Amino acid sequence: MNRAASPPLTTGTGRLSRRRFLAASAVAALACQRPVFAARNTRPTHKYIDIHTHLGAFHAGQNVSVKGLLGWMDEHDVERAVVLPLVSPEAAPRLQAMQTSDAAIEAAQAHPDRLIAFCCLDPRVTTTNPARYGHVDGVRGMTEILKRYQDAGARGFGEHKVGLPFDHPQMMQLYEVCDSLELPILFHLDDLRGIDTPGLPRLENVLKAFPKLPLIGHACGFWSSISGDATKEDFGRYPTPPKPITPGGALDRLMDAYGNLYCDISEPGGAIALTRDPAFAREFVTRRADRLLFGSDYLAPGQQIPQFEILSAMNLPDEVQYKIHRGNAIRILRLAGT
Ligand SMILES: [Zn+2]
Repeated sequence: MNRAASPPLTTGTGRLSRRRFLAASAVAALACQRPVFAARNTRPTHKYIDIHTHLGAFHAGQNVSVKGLLGWMDEHDVERAVVLPLVSPEAAPRLQAMQTSDAAIEAAQAHPDRLIAFCCLDPRVTTTNPARYGHVDGVRGMTEILKRYQDAGARGFGEHKVGLPFDHPQMMQLYEVCDSLELPILFHLDDLRGIDTPGLPRLENVLKAFPKLPLIGHACGFWSSISGDATKEDFGRYPTPPKPITPGGALDRLMDAYGNLYCDISEPGGAIALTRDPAFAREFVTRRADRLLFGSDYLAPGQQIPQFEILSAMNLPDEVQYKIHRGNAIRILRLAGT
């Protein structure tokens, strides 16, 4: 994709237009029509727990209400869904009341058997200077805020999508808070939000500093790192399938070294990573079954979610399907049920 000719496709919840999302989905769907992905059925044995949905109107005029989200879940065998607030100025075009932590918690309280709330906070609410923290008292102040959300039912933190380097000192303060509260983090990583570079050295600094904190990644910078040849430009765009994956990508290297790294397969980054090189993808999904979580990044009515077809067409062994569709989410978020 030529960056000079078109804006960078940074994320399913970023500057990707609906038209381009559909185009990317169509390409992904085409790629998965290869024989190795011959589909058998579209009804999963194990219903989904979706690790990545949003309420509100990410796109103007395309509002996802609680009722709308529940209806979409019913249509697609999604038993439960994590509702992710968006709170940072870089996270969504127009921050709205439905995108707050309070709205996610309210929705989950109203539908405890279907919706799971995460909470979110921008680390720039405070500083790293004890002499000049501002309104929030550093780590202690952020802990107080997030503890309230947790006590109200929040099961994790995210979508963490902040326009700072991934291991910036202010981000590290926030990770310290989530680590102490045992709030798993779902994060966005590209060249603008949760910023990192090929090899993911900044993400590695965080994985190393907080080895017990589950970190669940998505978006194009994260997923381009499935391939050993990911470039700086790849952190701000989606590849066009088919595009072979070079073994030895940063994701495999980091998952070998750190037990706390997980992958959210949502949005075009996840869809394309699982279709650009079908043979590699199926082997990766099977080999990393303990680290992958089903996610859609559903944020607009009628949005196409190619992940349903992609997983179905892989015809995965039963235990692999269980882990990715729901088992890993149950384990990491300590949810009731099986
Ligand atoms: Zn995202």
